[in-house]
Amino acid sequence: MINITHHGATSGVTGSCHELTLDFGSAPTSESSSAGILVDCGLFQGQEKGDGASASDLSVDFPIEHIRALVVTHVHIDHVGRIPYLLAAGFEGPIICSEPSAIMLPEILEDALKIGFTRDRALIERVLGLIRSRLVPVPYGQWHEVFAEPGASLSVRFQRAGHILGSAYVECDAVSGGERERVVFSGDLGAPHAPLLQEPASPERADRLVIESTYGDKNHESRETRRYRLKAILERALADGGTVLIPAFSIGRTQELLYEIEGLIHEFRNDSVAEGLVWDDLEIVVDSPLAAEFTGIYRKLKPFWNAEAADLVRQGRHPLSFEQLTVIDSHADHLNAVEYLARSHRPCVVLAGSGMCAGGRVVNYLKAMLGEARNDVLFVGYQAAGTPGRDILTYGPRGGWVELDGKRFDIRAKVHQAGGYSAHAGQSDLIRFIEGIPKKPSEIRIVHGDESAKLAFKQRLLEIHYPSVLIPNQEGI
Ligand SMILES: [Zn+2]
Repeated sequence: MINITHHGATSGVTGSCHELTLDFGSAPTSESSSAGILVDCGLFQGQEKGDGASASDLSVDFPIEHIRALVVTHVHIDHVGRIPYLLAAGFEGPIICSEPSAIMLPEILEDALKIGFTRDRALIERVLGLIRSRLVPVPYGQWHEVFAEPGASLSVRFQRAGHILGSAYVECDAVSGGERERVVFSGDLGAPHAPLLQEPASPERADRLVIESTYGDKNHESRETRRYRLKAILERALADGGTVLIPAFSIGRTQELLYEIEGLIHEFRNDSVAEGLVWDDLEIVVDSPLAAEFTGIYRKLKPFWNAEAADLVRQGRHPLSFEQLTVIDSHADHLNAVEYLARSHRPCVVLAGSGMCAGGRVVNYLKAMLGEARNDVLFVGYQAAGTPGRDILTYGPRGGWVELDGKRFDIRAKVHQAGGYSAHAGQSDLIRFIEGIPKKPSEIRIVHGDESAKLAFKQRLLEIHYPSVLIPNQEGI
């Protein structure tokens, strides 16, 4: 028997954690009659946390004795944030991931540990040391054997997912008794033509496919359209001399935006971006130590960039470290920047985390800037239900308010959304990914999406005659 179980991301887009379990059949060779892997072990965010106490959201509440390895698709916190809790629950296996992910994972978890786990520096170092010792980086396109015993065997292979640097979908070759199956977990899939990243190619085979559906009900604009829309939004937003605040995720979106903004500055160098200001003089501020750190890591991982980005580097361009870019590091500098920008009428673009405004330095900017009409908030990523980001997006345009740190803030700043700047594939991209698999999967499971997105995506797949399309949780699995 080869079973897929879902421990998260079935009633929303966060907390990804799936299990693939193989029975040893009649010839058990180990203490347990089955063995398996977890694919991701992420944190829940926003209202997807549920109403339970936070400790129960975090602790790993399913059996793990038979879990031989954790396979990580990419290092976003909703896919890796519960790893410390998995270790605390007694998990002793390796953490298998792509090579860039192996470099980024300890960094992102260090930050997560500091915020949510403990302030004890020595304990953090111990946990990080443990995580580093468990990491098994595997190159893209190369099979890696997780276990092979008489009754069952399992190998995994990473392929580029085009979502963030190091992101992968996982192909699993599972053999249990007489059964042999290729199970594919999509992780998060990127849109084609994403800046910096190679786009994903469809799997050569997938008997069963577990696929995300963040944008299962929407299509994105093309790369060129969204690039010029970004330009138009920035020009309109900066015209009245305010700040454009972009809540951005530290890993992925920030680097993509910097890449696109560098491209706009290069192309429109001497054109006016605002009254008395040309693109070449536009100041871009990254105010997030984590985003700055990951921008540095992205710069070092150039061998994993796509051909277009590599070409720019050969031309002498620096897509992630251009001269108009200022990085704010210390907390004191951050507070000064918030105060200065809130008072000055100098047009400026600020990227600050967190992406859904649920914490991080963006909150101070929002408190200082939401009340003024000359400021603008530009959302470039998905806003989960229950996050301040979703509230600003929903109520901002109607002149509403948002609650930040327990206080109400009226929203007079203009609110924009550049939907095309998603690190996730749109519906047609997801369909293309599935249709590219030569033989139709006998089962497709839709996870990692809002209910409406999952239902719309399921409907679309049924229309084009996929035989078995399931939404776990809704259908008793
Ligand atoms: Zn992700």
